[in-house]
Amino acid sequence: MLTGKKILVQRYGDFIRGRRTTESRLYRNNIVPTLKDAVPGDLGLVLPYRIMVDLDEMIKALDKIAPGLASDETLLYGVEVKFYSNKVMVDDTFETSLKNLYTLGDGAGITRGLMQASANGLYAARHLYREEACPEN
Ligand SMILES: Cc1cc2nc3c(=O)[nH]c(=O)nc-3n(C[C@H](O)[C@H](O)[C@H](O)COP(=O)(O)OP(=O)(O)OC[C@H]3O[C@@H](n4cnc5c(N)ncnc54)[C@H](O)[C@@H]3O)c2cc1C
Repeated sequence: MLTGKKILVQRYGDFIRGRRTTESRLYRNNIVPTLKDAVPGDLGLVLPYRIMVDLDEMIKALDKIAPGLASDETLLYGVEVKFYSNKVMVDDTFETSLKNLYTLGDGAGITRGLMQASANGLYAARHLYREEACPEN
């Protein structure tokens, strides 16, 4: 989504400073990306925080056996990963393509929080109540 389906690249110096690598910063970098169509950006927007922390820890550890690896100029590649985007297809009453099977809440990928999930439950319950009490409406 951020890179037009390309791999994202960030300088380690930008990574630890929490800023994006721009075209101009990459242009001034002495290490040139071997992956030519990689798009400069911010790995913080595509990787979960824990993985960012682990990457940083690994680079610092590797720097002890290969000094220089934790240089600002080292390039890191990353793919955009979203773990929560799977969604069950539903209509506007939250009914699936299987008649009378409704899916709601976080498990269905529809909500991501207490308020949304509660409202989702109420909405569907009211719909089902109306269907049951006055099916002609
Ligand atoms: C640690 C943590 C902290 C969070 N903090 C916040 C917060 O501060 N603010 C916020 O808005 N949201 C927060 N959330 C998210 C919030 O908890 C969820 O968005 C919300 O609970 C989703 O509601 P739900 O009804 O869709 O699913 P759930 O609350 O997960 O309810 C699903 C229910 O289905 C039951 N179940 C599962 N399988 C079966 C089965 N086979 N048969 C029968 N029952 C089954 C489960 O036991 C569970 O009771 C937090 C979540 C976590 C994990």
